[in-house]
Amino acid sequence: MEQLSSDLNLQALVQTPLVSIAPGDSFNNILQGLQKNQGAGLVVEEQGQFRGLITQREVIRALGKGYSPQEITAERIMLPSDYCLSLKDLDDLLGVLGRFRHLGVDALAVVNESQGVEGLLTRPALRERLRPADLLRIKRVAEVMVCDVATIAAEASLQEAVVLMSERGVTSLVVPEETSSGVLPRGIVTEKDIFEALHRQGGVLTGTVGSIMSQPVLTVKPDQSLWQVNHLLKEHQVRRVVVVDDDGQMVGIVTQSNLLAAIDITEAQGVIQVLTQELSKATAELHWQLSRQQAITAAITESEQRYNTLISHLPVALYRRDRARLWHFNYVSDQIYQLTGYFPQDLPDWRQIVPPPDLTLAEREIEQAIQQQRAYSTTYRIRHRDGCFRYLSDRGQFDPYSQMLHGVLVDVSDQKRTEERLKTSLEREMIVSTIIQDIRQSIRLEEILQRAVNSIQQLLLSDRVLIYRFLGDGSGIVAVEATTLPQYSILGQVIHDPCFTKETARRFLEGRTLSISDVNQAQLQDCYRELLTRLQVQANLVVPLLQGQHLWGLLIAHHCRSPRLWQREELFLLQRIAEPLTVALQQAEMYEALEQANTNLQEMVYIDSLTDIGNRRCFDELFLKEWRRCQREQKPLSLIMLDIDCFKAYNDHYGHLQGDEILKQVARILESHLQRAGDLATRFGGEEFALILPDTDQRGAIHIVEKIQGALAEANITHAKSTVGPKLTASFGIATTIPTLDHTPEMLLHLADQCLYEAKTHGRDRWVARELS
Ligand code: GH3
Ligand code: MG
Ligand code: MG
Repeated sequence: MEQLSSDLNLQALVQTPLVSIAPGDSFNNILQGLQKNQGAGLVVEEQGQFRGLITQREVIRALGKGYSPQEITAERIMLPSDYCLSLKDLDDLLGVLGRFRHLGVDALAVVNESQGVEGLLTRPALRERLRPADLLRIKRVAEVMVCDVATIAAEASLQEAVVLMSERGVTSLVVPEETSSGVLPRGIVTEKDIFEALHRQGGVLTGTVGSIMSQPVLTVKPDQSLWQVNHLLKEHQVRRVVVVDDDGQMVGIVTQSNLLAAIDITEAQGVIQVLTQELSKATAELHWQLSRQQAITAAITESEQRYNTLISHLPVALYRRDRARLWHFNYVSDQIYQLTGYFPQDLPDWRQIVPPPDLTLAEREIEQAIQQQRAYSTTYRIRHRDGCFRYLSDRGQFDPYSQMLHGVLVDVSDQKRTEERLKTSLEREMIVSTIIQDIRQSIRLEEILQRAVNSIQQLLLSDRVLIYRFLGDGSGIVAVEATTLPQYSILGQVIHDPCFTKETARRFLEGRTLSISDVNQAQLQDCYRELLTRLQVQANLVVPLLQGQHLWGLLIAHHCRSPRLWQREELFLLQRIAEPLTVALQQAEMYEALEQANTNLQEMVYIDSLTDIGNRRCFDELFLKEWRRCQREQKPLSLIMLDIDCFKAYNDHYGHLQGDEILKQVARILESHLQRAGDLATRFGGEEFALILPDTDQRGAIHIVEKIQGALAEANITHAKSTVGPKLTASFGIATTIPTLDHTPEMLLHLADQCLYEAKTHGRDRWVARELS
């Protein structure tokens, strides 16, 4: 695999962590350590040996599991010692990426032979280093190729090729050559080749696959990189290559869309961008092909007009007609029966079986041709006796001597149908690519889902397309829908499907799909039929929507006004759109988890884990903010410092855990006495608390302090070792000022501290207040 590993020196990406910790270290140490290492991860070491790894996720998970911070030690929450890479592992980039993915972590420790820690390797570091091109380089053909290749014999007709392509939902067919040693690819025929043939042959699809297939076939080996495939595709301006093994035997096929699907979006957003651009190019090409299709149709009409030998196809009939429109058939072939359902002798007046609008157009063309003395050529439908329409080409000329029209009728139904089929499949392909591109480009999940169901509904022209999301208790909700009529709407309905069992879920997880063309006729469990009938469903198509290994929901098309025979392509279409939707779901899940983790971290950084009020960092930031605000508005700002009296003695006597309880209790008291929106109580450190009171003068601050003192007394906490009295008390320092440019916030803090000191030295259980001026 190229020289990628040596290009990409993984050792250089290994970060040496600033701090590591020991197994017994506490929650606070873990938090600080993670913060110092800038969130990368924290190595747990014991006697110079790697013991385990902690990332932000472990902290969050432990808290999520309901551990309290005091219960948390490094040893309890760390990932075990196999979350590491050896120095030798670093030589194998693919192996390293696989390891990250397998373990589902964002960081791994790197250790040397004696289990000593060399550093940390993180996913962000890897991601930053891996350029989009590298990602294509490290994936190999074998990982993305499709093994089930659609094949066709060289002798097969192009008609058969078209049918097979639309049945299999593919855009190319491989012509194999069976040899004694296996199957070799002999040629390949693509949608494009067929179009070109159609064009060359003036709109008629004749000939064999062998006559137009491209040879020799462009091939790659399973262990070649996608980068090479990408190059090959570009160089030869093709969209697929066949995969062969060392003996040249065909083992699969790789298409441009396989390349796209191969890239894991979690690995590189960049690659997606590069490939999305290519996809838009491909879509543009598709647009171009579509406009070419129109050109081809024009060419067909033109070439039809150019026919001067009227009998180039075997005609159904030759006729003579006077201007009074009396028909005489000179010749009628046996085909007339297939065409009309009548035997020649029973044929009704021609005008009766041509639908009026078609007849009007045809007659107009003929009148014009007579006036301009030229041949006419027109195509119209006729109604078969069974009620179906068939297409007829009618060409002829006016003979001025006999004053008669002489014409020939040719059955062009097959040709028309092939044309239509190609046209719809091409149009559909274009729309599907647009939807898929759309899905890949948006990030808002609801928008993606809504747009997808709208587009599918318009494509299938079914009465209702919906996304059904499972709710976990076996029921589900109609989360998104698009309907033709308001009365078909079931949006928001919670559905309890009694037939939906674990087994049903398992089968959907394995990719099972469902296609029912008539709910009343199909073999269904009664409960399911009842459910569908209640929802007005007469026919449905269902494909699963997976979120990783989890069945997230179902993508469903309903037909309500009648039963409907679904085409295979219609099911493929749902499946194809479901695929990028599942990617979008996964992406959304990741965003959610990320956002949750971010909020948790944010809170952890500002909230004191013991008392649940703001911590020192919170104080620092908000004090500064309030200082500036009061300075702007010229309002007084008070700062209260509170320190519990003789708390060391309390701890020594009642134990540290009991001490912690007191700190929590004091925090609750403080919180309950702050009423204004801007007031804030924080734990300043140890057994000291700081209260920020914006827009509060000295009198207001004293008032609050006295209320807190009262509440403390009321709490009636016994403190047998206090030098003040039998109950727990606190001392307060109160500093107030209207902030000016002459002062700094530190000065106010210092003053509050001084006041507190004075309160302590004057006997505790009291306050001292002063103004900064
Ligand atoms: P003073 O009246 O002068 O304030 O005496 P003090 O004993 O309260 O003050 P000192 O600063 O000597 O001791 C503070 C004590 O607070 C030390 C420590 O035992 C206790 N302390 C600090 N943080 C915590 C904590 O998180 N939990 C518990 N339980 N105790 C703490
Ligand atoms: Mg103290
Ligand atoms: Mg104290």
